[in-house]
Formats: sequence, C-alpha cells, structure tokens
Amino acid sequence: MSYQALYRVWRPQRFEDIAGQEAVTQTLRNALSHGNTSHAYLFSGPRGTGKTSAAKIFAKAMNCKHAVDGEPCNECDLCQSITRGNLPDVIEIDAASNNGVDEIRDIREKANYAPTQADYKVYIIDEVHMLSMGAFNALLKTLEEPPVNVVFILATTEPHKIPLTIISRTQRFDFRRIAPLDIVRRMTFILNEKEVNFEEDALLAIAKAAEGGMRDALSILDQALSFSNGTITLEETLRITGSVTQELLSEYVRASLINDTEKGLSLLHSILQEGKDANRLADDTILFCRDILIYQKTQEETVLKMSKVNEQFTELVKEADAEKIYEIIRVMNHTQQEMRQSSHAEVYLEVATVRLTQPSPNQKVIQTSGGGVDDKEVSALKAKMAQMQKMLEQMQQNQAPAAQPIQKTTRQPKKQQQFKVNKTQVFTVLEKATKDDLNRLKDVWPDLINYLPAGQKAILKTSKPVAASPHGLVVTFDYDILCERASSDTFLIESIGDYLEKVIGHRAEMCSVPADQWPTVRQAFIQRMKNSSPEETDAAPEEEAAETQDDSVVSEAIDIFGKEAVTIKD
Ligand SMILES: [Zn+2]
Repeated sequence: MSYQALYRVWRPQRFEDIAGQEAVTQTLRNALSHGNTSHAYLFSGPRGTGKTSAAKIFAKAMNCKHAVDGEPCNECDLCQSITRGNLPDVIEIDAASNNGVDEIRDIREKANYAPTQADYKVYIIDEVHMLSMGAFNALLKTLEEPPVNVVFILATTEPHKIPLTIISRTQRFDFRRIAPLDIVRRMTFILNEKEVNFEEDALLAIAKAAEGGMRDALSILDQALSFSNGTITLEETLRITGSVTQELLSEYVRASLINDTEKGLSLLHSILQEGKDANRLADDTILFCRDILIYQKTQEETVLKMSKVNEQFTELVKEADAEKIYEIIRVMNHTQQEMRQSSHAEVYLEVATVRLTQPSPNQKVIQTSGGGVDDKEVSALKAKMAQMQKMLEQMQQNQAPAAQPIQKTTRQPKKQQQFKVNKTQVFTVLEKATKDDLNRLKDVWPDLINYLPAGQKAILKTSKPVAASPHGLVVTFDYDILCERASSDTFLIESIGDYLEKVIGHRAEMCSVPADQWPTVRQAFIQRMKNSSPEETDAAPEEEAAETQDDSVVSEAIDIFGKEAVTIKD
C-alpha cells in the first residue's frame, strides 16, 4: 500500500476523537440526538482544528441508522461510504477551487432533488470565504428558501470575509486552537497504537510548534517518524520543527547582554544554517525572554512557557538587566512584523542582532574578562549596520512596487548576480517530461512542503513545479536567493527525493530555476527540440529540416508543459 499521511489515516471518525473542541462537539451531539438540527452551519476556526472532520462526522451521524448519542456507528454501508467520500448525498466542495457562481447555481438546482440513499443531503463547503460575491448571492438565495432534508455546513478559516447576511442564516460554531496538552494526548494515543517509543518532551515540542493545529502537529510527527530510529527524540524534533535548544537561546541572549556582536551574529548564522526557521527563532527568543523576566520576579518554574530551570538559566536570570531583556522583546517583536512582509527574514534578524548587541545608553553591561569595545570596532559595526539597513530598504522597494512613487521610469537598478540555471540538468528532465508526471507532482506538492522542516518549508514557500519526468522535476522560485538556496541544499533535495519515493513510488531529483528565467529556458528547450529531428542522431541539425516538424514539436511541448504554457512563436 502506498504511504498515507498520518493526518489522513488518523482523521477522527467520531466527535469523541476530535481533540480540544469539547464545547462544540457536545452541542452538536446534543442537537443530533434530540433531532434538533439546523439546516445551515458555519464552522469557523484556524486550520487543522477539526472543522471538516466534524462536518463529515455530522453528515454520518445525521444519516446513520445506528447512531448512539449523536455519534455515528462508522460500520454501516452509509457511514463507510461517507468516510470514503463516495456517497452521492454528501457533497464536499472546496470553494478555493470552485468559487464560481455556476457551481453554486448548480447546487441550488440539485439541492432540490431528494437525496438518493441517505435521509439528508449534506453539502460541506470548505474555505467558503473564497466564494465570489455572485456565488455568495446565489448561496444566500438557497439559504433563504432551504430545500427540505438538505443541510449546509460552511467551513472557514476567515469568517470575517463572509457576508453577514449569510452568517445570520447559519448556526455558528467557533473551533479553537487546540491546547498543546490535547495535541500531545492525541499523538500519544497514535504512537501507542503504532507501538512507537517517544520522549515526552519531543511531543510537547511538536505540539508547541504546531500552534494549535492538529494537522500541522501530525505532519511534523510524520516526519519525526520517518527520521527516527525507533524512538522519537527531542533532539530530532527540534531539528525538524526548526526550534532552537534552550542552550543556544541562552547563548544568543547572553551575547546581547554583553554586547558581543560577533558572537551574536555567528550564533545566529549557525542556528539558521542548521535549518532553523527565522520566524520561529524570533518567537522562541521572545518567549525565552519572557520566561527570564517572570522568573526574575517569581522564582516559580511552573509559570514558565518554554524554559527549564537549570544552572545556565538561573545564572542568566541573575545577571540579566531587565531593561535590556525588555529591549530584546521589543526589537524581536518589531522584527517579526517586518519579516512577515518579506522573504528575506534572515537579513532582518541580522539587523536585529547587530542592534541588540550595541550598548544602549543606560545599560548595565555584564563584566567580561575580554575588556571593553574600542572605537574602531564600534565604527566598523555602525558601517555594517548602515549597509544592512540599505539592503533592507532596497529589498522593500523591490517587493512593493505599488507603494513606490512613479519617479523611476527605468527598470530596477541593476540585478544582483543572476542565478545560473543548470541547463543540462533541466533539459535532461524536460526530454523525458510528461504532463501526467507534472500533474501527479502538482497534486502532492502542498503536502510535500508541509512535510518538510520549517527551514526548508520557508525556502519552498514560493516554489512551483513546472515540469516533471519520472526521475526529475523542474521547480521555479520567485526569488533568485531562494533558488540558490534550494539548489545548494542537498538535505532538501534528498528529503524531496525521499518523500516522492514514499508517495509516488520513485525518487526524483529537483532542479531549480528562477521564475523570471523559466520562460527563456523553456523556449530554449523548445527551440532545441525543433532543431533536432528524430531521424538524425548526432548530425548537426539544420534550420530547414526543422520546419516540417513544427507541428509535432508544438504538440510535444504541449504534452510536457500543458497548453496554457506554450505560445507558438514564428
Ligand atoms: Zn452508521
């Protein structure tokens, strides 16, 4: 059997199995067991908190003849075909892909036909906020005159984008972020069932990194499982989640306290090089500083969010100047906001590190044996800081062209070193590429990204598969810098190979191309196809020979890249 993601295999099949949403599931069960259901529901809440699982369980419980206390039996034909997703009366729609008015009109029309096998027809519309205005209006009409025996369950991560007229016609349930301990409990259950050993701290680290989403937690767990040698360890999970060990955090904070820029930067670089995620590092630093402040005041370990009290920690708490710790929190908080709008998060962290390791006017500096900082160092640092600031400004300008005044009619100043595409490698993939391979790859790409450690995930965030052969894939990146990273990160390339082997059944090697160079590369390949005729082998192809087979070249190109990507140029 092919490999299946944990979150698919362990999708809850009863309300009881949905973690951390007791208030919601209890109310739904009561309504079901009293036959007191409404014809439209809105399930809102962060991703991975159980909304669509609850919707499917609801559809089962409504129709199952053997339901007890609002829970479906999961064994009758009806329950099982809903679980498999092939009961015609339970219709799942992803509004992110079907956002047209036509689809909703279609629902209006079909909703009026009675259910064929079940008692109730249930429409589950996921990501409903993605519907167009026209589609919302069509949906509203259906909700205003609800057909009998039809139930609508609308699920969304962004309820504020749904018109109030719709919301007011539904019964609303808010799904909360799942508490870390609830996530740990569920993972413990799954691992016990699978008879896998684990360190408890490892599960807590995963739960923390998942930020209240069960799906994210199980994706991380999936990965921890595939890397583990029989036991899931804290060390391995920290590597996967991109979280930083307390020891490194202590050293990093200490570098700020003693104004050691070099140490701060070198710690930062080694942390990032290990594949830790820049956002997570900022987050962890803030939480760690919070723990320091609180422990200074309370000496109470139980109120700490992420720190363990050990010798290193107590020492740091003793010597830390509270003002400076506040400053670290402020700067990191600000940095996080800046990073959110940028794909160059590391540079912001570098700037923050330089800033934090500058002596502030009334800071008490910890005494070090190394002695003070001399003027030369200070001015060197200031120069470095100014240079970084300039880089940041340039990046911001490049990213937000709309916010820029019209003064510049010429194109961007001058491109920094363009990424050099390995054409031989790309062409080798393209020669064997097929559209089927590409479609298969596109299908699994979001899951694949989700599966990777945070650091690698960040690299692939703007990536897009554009061609695939059985043993190779071509992926484009929006930024040269990310392309560079991806092509030099052997761990990433290996991980992708591993994942594809598990999911598609064979390894494939990724080659990276910056998105803005892709049209040229593709055109070069099409040109090369034109120039080489099938009869000829090594003979140099001549222009006239190509003319006659233009058609076959075009259709072959379409076969590889898809119709929309091929423009025929004469
Ligand atoms: Zn049943």
